[in-house]
Amino acid sequence: MVGARLLSFDVEHWYDATLASKPASAQPEYARREIDAVLELLAARGVRATFFVLGGLARQLPASVRDIAAAGHEVGCHGLTHELLFELGEARMRREVGAARSILQELSGQEVVGYRAPTWSLDRRSAWAPRVLHELGFRYDSSVFPLRTPFYGVPGAPVGPYRLKAGDGWLLELPPAVREVLGVRVPLAGGIYWRVLPAALVTLGLRGMQLPVLYAHPWEVAPAGWSLPSGSGALARFGMGFRGRQLGPVLGRLLRTGSFQPLGDALRDLDGSALPAWGFQDGRIAQLPH
Ligand SMILES: [Zn+2]
Repeated sequence: MVGARLLSFDVEHWYDATLASKPASAQPEYARREIDAVLELLAARGVRATFFVLGGLARQLPASVRDIAAAGHEVGCHGLTHELLFELGEARMRREVGAARSILQELSGQEVVGYRAPTWSLDRRSAWAPRVLHELGFRYDSSVFPLRTPFYGVPGAPVGPYRLKAGDGWLLELPPAVREVLGVRVPLAGGIYWRVLPAALVTLGLRGMQLPVLYAHPWEVAPAGWSLPSGSGALARFGMGFRGRQLGPVLGRLLRTGSFQPLGDALRDLDGSALPAWGFQDGRIAQLPH
């Protein structure tokens, strides 16, 4: 669809976030309520999206995965745990992401073809990951953040959709929305950026972008009453708490401004063979001959 935005949610517990210190005991009830709130928000607007779900959370909250699928949304895979890819390593990634994909397929009744790495951890340190995803049956990825941040990012990567070399095959890569303005890359994709930037700037910046990929976490859209453990550092308090109650309204406003669809729809709408081809080689991402 012309002008559509690709909307996604990374479905995890608040304490799965890289910055969070873990609470003494698991608290799956919070995530269940947060997912319910997001489903309600989308239903009220008639919007369909992609939910990249952690396999570990799916085991704890199988009914929530069924609810997501029953509401007409796409179920994608966010891994089994929230461990970063380059810490997981190739062999464990193959085993764990494969297991998560099976769990999610069984619960959703969908073929799961989309993947998002925990904390955008697909970069030069995990250059083998596209091949693993292709071998496991994924058809698209949305994990390469085209901007260097203190925690993640591949600064030379394209800001629009492209084909990503994956062993002897290809993945469609759908990077999170980053807009180049006068040579500076500005992240407009969601999450912390939507909490830090003025909502009007985000709306304006997204205008005219081709299939911008947006993301948010249920724990920041509709936080269900959890609180960071006492003694959490300033970085965690900022990264997880800054305007922590305001992403719901920002998202609600954005949902009134245009049309939205799940990321998987791009497999149908884009002509993959016409997209530029890129791949990780020699420790960096580079454009490949067509
Ligand atoms: Zn995540």
